Amino acid sequence: MSEEELRIGVYVCHCGGNISDYVDVKKVVEAIKGEPGVVVAKDVMFACSDSSQNEIINDVKEHNLNRVVVASCSPKLHELTFRETVKRAGLNPYLYYHANIREHVSWAHTDTREGATEKAIRHVRAAIAYVRNAKPLEPIRQKTMHAVLVIGGGIAGLRAALDLSRTGLNVYLVERSPFLGGRTPQLYRVYPDGRRGADIVKDLVSELIKRDNVAIYTNAEIKSFSGYIGNFEVEVEIKPRYIKVPYDEIKEKIKELPDEIPDEFNYGLTKRKVIYYPYEGAFPRIPVLDLDHCSDVETIKELLGDAVDLEQKPETVKLKVGAVIVATGFDPYEPKEGEFGYGRQGVVTLPQLHRLMDLGNGELKLNGREIRDVAFVYCVGSRQKKSSEEEVNEYCSRYCCNAAMYISSLLMEQGIRTYHIFRDIRTYGRHERMYDEVSRKGGIFIKYNEDEPPEIEEEGDKLLLKVKDLLTAGEHLEIPVDLVVLVTGMVPRKTPELDELLRISRGRDRFYVEVHPKLRPVETSIGGIFIAGACQAPRDICETLSSASAAASKAATVTLRDVIELEPFKAEVDPNICDLSKKCIEICPYEAIEIKNYEGIGEKAWVNKAKCMGCGACVAVCPTEAIQLNGLTNEQIRAMIEAAGKEVII
Ligand SMILES: Cc1cc2nc3c(=O)[nH]c(=O)nc-3n(C[C@H](O)[C@H](O)[C@H](O)COP(=O)(O)OP(=O)(O)OC[C@H]3O[C@@H](n4cnc5c(N)ncnc54)[C@H](O)[C@@H]3O)c2cc1C
Repeated sequence: MSEEELRIGVYVCHCGGNISDYVDVKKVVEAIKGEPGVVVAKDVMFACSDSSQNEIINDVKEHNLNRVVVASCSPKLHELTFRETVKRAGLNPYLYYHANIREHVSWAHTDTREGATEKAIRHVRAAIAYVRNAKPLEPIRQKTMHAVLVIGGGIAGLRAALDLSRTGLNVYLVERSPFLGGRTPQLYRVYPDGRRGADIVKDLVSELIKRDNVAIYTNAEIKSFSGYIGNFEVEVEIKPRYIKVPYDEIKEKIKELPDEIPDEFNYGLTKRKVIYYPYEGAFPRIPVLDLDHCSDVETIKELLGDAVDLEQKPETVKLKVGAVIVATGFDPYEPKEGEFGYGRQGVVTLPQLHRLMDLGNGELKLNGREIRDVAFVYCVGSRQKKSSEEEVNEYCSRYCCNAAMYISSLLMEQGIRTYHIFRDIRTYGRHERMYDEVSRKGGIFIKYNEDEPPEIEEEGDKLLLKVKDLLTAGEHLEIPVDLVVLVTGMVPRKTPELDELLRISRGRDRFYVEVHPKLRPVETSIGGIFIAGACQAPRDICETLSSASAAASKAATVTLRDVIELEPFKAEVDPNICDLSKKCIEICPYEAIEIKNYEGIGEKAWVNKAKCMGCGACVAVCPTEAIQLNGLTNEQIRAMIEAAGKEVII
């Protein structure tokens, strides 16, 4: 389209003072009135209000506008609003540009009205340059599979799978370990309601297995993964259990086997057999033979006869799904030998305390010894300071103050004295009640300085905890106790193979990271892949379940539709000028670029638009500029830079 035909409408928003308190909006309008193509230039109090939107629609019709710019808040808030507005006015929605003069200008430069006004003018000029070079675009329409893959069968994965199955979608739940439930069944009793972790899981599982649109694969892992939003292809490998019958049929025979291996379910506090079923109620009710640790296969065969089948081989299933929920959870922080006395007899972690209490049916004993005094040491493995190249956990693990308060309250009901050696107590929200309760019951709180952590020594059959108490002006205290509980935080679970396959990003804390914490809290940078539960951040059960339901509803919005529309901001190759340097293929993080044989031209690069995320990495490396991003071409970028750099006279 030639410049003469351009008819641009520009609307500069006051945002009720959010912008106009710091930017002279009228001056901005005056400054851009003379820009080539600008036919309408106005300031508006609230561009997003119905009346302003109607004004834009009327102007488009009355003045025959064919491009629109709104300069207001962040495009994340209202770009879609105004795209819809121009669409209602009869224009292609991509002939619109949204200049952010609030977050980028008025809020950022509250100290200089003149400077902010100048910057706003540059932003709006650049926006006008953009639309001058804009071409109509169409969203990409893609067929969708009505099925969702959920990776991880902890409570996050179980909740998400259940929610999804209730919408009528097909759900595939893939759990790496031989049993469902993740970490929750290891918890003796959980705040806020004191339920057993295993019971919470049992309720979810019993609901889930009733549903005929859910397939559950345990002892299974993702082996290959390809495709794009709406159309992912996945291969799942299911490892053999080698046992063919339910636990009850061979329970007595399993007892005859020697204890051989530290039991991971009990964090190594006990040993287990090579054939195991971790806890009463675990699903599925079929035990597993741990062949990697089995030194005497013949005895097993003799003992179990037909119940064991060593000929079982791994199976592979191929799935087609429209969306994926990753719910791979966390690991508890494992203290280093010697860290806060870890490794000494009588020093355990909070997860181990849960197992001790569960094994003792609520009664706390260690190696048969009665426990009278327990010291909880907080912030172990959380809020660490970086002092070397070594990886540290700078974040607060959030669940742990609450979990420790709750369990110490249960201990105090048994007459056990509790000491709380803390840096800060963070029982946020309603959980403050538990802190209150422990204080009222006589819990003793001692604040330590992170640079002078408590020391734990052995003294006879007791432990001696030495600490400098900041609450009593640095008094050195020595407290004899029977048990020290290290209140350990959560760390991101390491899943390098899965990360490599899915290519979703991790944040600085090494947990999976969402696209935007407020606006897209469960979406990853890969369209159609969502995150749920403690794989995203340290979370308690309530928070885990909420995020799982959020991820399920997001995945449902993709997969319940027959066709989804994708943004057209995708790379595109002009095969006539592509010299097949392959640089774009090498740099593309989404494997969206392939080589294609173009009729009459030969082999050149080609972009799979469904896989392309529009990041522009390929554009930057193409030596011939053959690859361009629709909606943000090099021509547009150059025009914008030039317009923004023009002299401003206020
Ligand atoms: C000591 C302790 C006490 C706690 N107390 C409380 C409490 O009182 N109240 C409360 O609300 N919360 C409590 N919590 C928090 C609670 O445990 C978590 O919120 C919850 O377990 C998170 O569930 P999840 O499903 O996200 O993760 P997880 O429980 O870790 O489950 C993740 C699942 O994904 C599977 N998985 C991992 N990788 C893969 C893969 N590549 N492929 C397939 N599957 C995979 C894992 O095997 C696991 O089954 C406590 C936590 C701890 C450690």
